[in-house]
Order: sequence, then C-alpha cells, then structure tokens
Amino acid sequence: MKNFAIAIHGGAGTILRNQMTAEKEALYKKGLVDAIELGNKILAAGGSSIDAVEAAVESLENFPLFNAGRGAVFTNKGTHEMDASIMDGYTLEAGAVSGISNVQNPVKLARLIKEKSGHVFLSGKEAEEFARIQHVQFQPDEYFFTEERYKQWQEVKNTDSYQLDHADKSEKKFGTVGAVAIDIYGNLAAATSTGGMTNKRFGRVGDTPMIGAGTYANNKTCAVSCTGHGEFFIRAVVAYDVSCLMEYKGMTLNEACLFVVKDKLVKLGGEGGLIAIDKDANIELVFNSEGMYRAWKKNNSETEVRIYEA
Ligand code: ASP
Repeated sequence: MKNFAIAIHGGAGTILRNQMTAEKEALYKKGLVDAIELGNKILAAGGSSIDAVEAAVESLENFPLFNAGRGAVFTNKGTHEMDASIMDGYTLEAGAVSGISNVQNPVKLARLIKEKSGHVFLSGKEAEEFARIQHVQFQPDEYFFTEERYKQWQEVKNTDSYQLDHADKSEKKFGTVGAVAIDIYGNLAAATSTGGMTNKRFGRVGDTPMIGAGTYANNKTCAVSCTGHGEFFIRAVVAYDVSCLMEYKGMTLNEACLFVVKDKLVKLGGEGGLIAIDKDANIELVFNSEGMYRAWKKNNSETEVRIYEA
C-alpha cells in the first residue's frame, strides 16, 4: 500500500511554557489528537486527502481553544468574522470564504464553494446566503462566546490596535487551524480556518482564505497550510512560494519550507509558521516563532504532538 500521512496545526506564536498549566497543555493536545485521529481514520480506510483535511479542520473548529469556528476571536464590533479555504492538489480546485458569521464550520462552507458555487472565493453576507441554500449548519452568537476571547477583546476594544490571538501581553499566539494530507492515491490537499485577529475592523481579511498565501495544494509539489501574521503571509505569497521553489528551483520540501519561513519571512518581519506534505509523504512543520501547536502521523504510526520548539 502507498504512503498516507496527515499533519495539522492549531496556530503559532509566542507560546510560553511558564504560562501554560499542565491541564491546559493536556487540553490543547487532546484537541490536536482528536483532530488528527479523525483525519487519519479517513486516510487509513482509503478515503481522500480532501475529506481528511476537511474532517480534521472541522474538528479543530469545534474545539473552543483554537481561534477558528467556535473559538474565533472578537472583532472590533464584538462579532466573529471567520475565514477559511480548502484546496485539492489533484484537480487544483479550491474554495474560500471570508468575513462570515454564525457558520459552525467555515471549512465545510469553503468545500461547498469549491464544489457547488462555480466560483472560488465568496465573502460576507452573500456567502452566508449561499451557505443557507446549501443547508450549512448555523449557530447563534452565544455558541461563539468564550470567556478568554472576550477578555482579550476587552483589553483592546477601545483602541485602534488589532491583536493577534493572544492570552496575555507577553504571550502572543496565532490560533488559526489547518491540515495537510496525502492519501494512498498520492493526492494532496490542504485546508485552513481562522477567526483572524482580535479587534479587527474594516472587513480585515488575512492570508487564511487566500489561495496561494495561507493555503495551497498541488500534486506535483506539496500541500501547505499557514499560520501567522497574515499581512506578511499575503505579501510573501507563502504557500505558493513553497510550491514554486520545489517546482521551478528543484528544492526539496525541507529546503523550500526553511527558506520561506526562516529566511524570507524573517527578513520581511513576518512571524508564524506552516505545515506541509510533499508528494512522497515527507512532512514539514516549520515556524519562526517560539512555538506552534502541531501534530502529525504517517501510515498509522504513533501520533506526534508538539507545542514548543523541541
Ligand atoms: N494568519 C491568520 C490571519 O492573519 C492569523 C493566524 O494565523 O492566527 O488572519
């Protein structure tokens, strides 16, 4: 049987050990393990990578500690505006959505946009209208209320600043979630989902729903899902850059990821990281911040879960 593998992230940033209780760390790890097991089960049963990444991201969206779906951060208006995208490396078809509220699983909507809308990218209220037509699950505002996110918003609510998902002034983390996978047929897929930045306004959209910036998949090269300071990831066209370096420069996945994240992004001032899988099922989880919530699993091996650098 051919290789299959999956990797996921729950955001990168300054995740400090001294601010993490054993209890909280265990919770984060459970969220990651549950998601990866779900995706892996699909791959092990001969399912497709696109189904696996969708299921893994959906599970992370349902887990309140990550900044996506249920745990999405508050905007300047006290609402939740979510972004998501998904891409199939076999067909190069993609779906993306930005600025939507009350949709339980934005990644599901992105998938439906890919398959049912005839378009790639829908946004705002009209995207919600499409979601209703497709019978996507909506939730009331209370579903998206978490005490921690509310406190984060209260700290900056009356200022002009927007903030990356963080729990404390000295702790800065990006809580976006994502998954990349390869199935037994050699097909690659990637998906990413986020609530964006606390106190964001003016319809701010980050890299997450932008195909080529936050998400990209191509069977010829790799599948990539990013997390970090979106403005920089957009300008550096990060996910597509990794793929291009492999396709046009012949770099390995490892070389391309290290160059983009540890060199190009750093020079630009862009903090964050990415997860990637190539067509030979090599996995990379690279970040230039202090930590990244991440997990990976290949051919039913033990699940590897990490938060900090080592
Ligand atoms: N990249 C996301 C954004 O800029 C944030 C994150 O990764 O947490 O919206």
